Amino acid sequence: MEKLRVGVLGATGAVGQQFIALLKNHPWFRVTALAASERSAGKTYREAANWILQTPIPENIVNMKVLPPQPEFNCDFVFSGLDSSVAREIEWKFAVAGIPVISNAKNHRLDPLIPLLIPEVNPGHISLIQLQREKYGFGSGFIVTNPNCTTVGLAMGVLPVFQQFGIRKMLVTTLQAISGAGYPGVASLDILGNVIPNISGEAEKIRSEPLKIFGKLRENKIFPAEISISAQCNRVPVRNGHLISVSLATDRAADLEAVFSAYSDFVSPLTKWKLPGAPQHPIRLTDQSFDPQPFAQVDRDNGMTVSVGQVQSCPVLDFRLVALVHNTIRGAAGGAILNAEWLKANGFLGGVDNR
Ligand code: NAP
Repeated sequence: MEKLRVGVLGATGAVGQQFIALLKNHPWFRVTALAASERSAGKTYREAANWILQTPIPENIVNMKVLPPQPEFNCDFVFSGLDSSVAREIEWKFAVAGIPVISNAKNHRLDPLIPLLIPEVNPGHISLIQLQREKYGFGSGFIVTNPNCTTVGLAMGVLPVFQQFGIRKMLVTTLQAISGAGYPGVASLDILGNVIPNISGEAEKIRSEPLKIFGKLRENKIFPAEISISAQCNRVPVRNGHLISVSLATDRAADLEAVFSAYSDFVSPLTKWKLPGAPQHPIRLTDQSFDPQPFAQVDRDNGMTVSVGQVQSCPVLDFRLVALVHNTIRGAAGGAILNAEWLKANGFLGGVDNR
């Protein structure tokens, strides 16, 4: 099978680097173009990027020239890890030029015609693409987004409970890694030996995005889930991995045993599709007393699994649990690559001449 040609927008950033690392040896996709800001354009990737991953820059990327983000790329679609200050216009320009955009940025996530996709949770929302193309004049282009990194961990972490019993309230407290702030991110003097009890804009995303993700698609419209969510977000001195502590109230009565069964009975709807980046068990329940921990579980299944532990009855709401997500992999680049695989498997990528 001929691999699809992929461009990476924001290729030099924390998420862009994960794209490049994860796409090395990808069986369906190969990186053929890289773009970043004017500061980087014209340089080789090695000169432009301050590489923060432990694996080396792939050999085919080291000397590739970084381009300005113009839709004249030699590619079939692009991944975007662009800074949100520029993502809205640049991503739109690519879509209008007929190039599909799979984005991590926040800008288009709540657009009613743009899927906010986690394939294990709301795989059917990709049917919005046809309407999006007609209404926005994208031709063969489109935009699909993945949620905020913490929202991915939250939505997947509570998915078995939501599917079995419904959820009407959630109280969420997050402990978020430094890499979530991009590079160079939070100043070391601010975060070393410290906890910062606010992350700009994060609580709003956690309150709004799950409602769209868990929303029901009827006649080309998403009807948001009715869940009231309160969120308190904290930055902690951890390199990778957002820990999410949740207390929740269910719609329908359940006991703790039934909640454990919901997790053990959960089967990924992607299993039969054999997507290269889809873990067999995307939600892993642990019964170890001190888990999940970023240090121990964040890289599980190549960073694509959400680990869940501390499942207990809650004396205030109904149940509580703790979920852990790798923020730059499942919460960003790895999640976006899985979205692209799901889109390809459903004929939205590679089935047409995109240029
Ligand atoms: P980052 O490390 O700050 O990287 C930002 C990227 O955007 C860099 O490649 C930068 O290029 C590029 N950029 C900045 N200004 C630009 C401009 N004017 N024109 C073109 N490119 C420009 O940020 P990040 O953490 O990788 O995040 C990237 C996006 O993903 C953001 O929208 C973020 O909210 C989202 N996200 C991040 C995470 C996470 O865990 N980090 C998780 C989910 C979603 P230069 O290097 O040339 O400046």
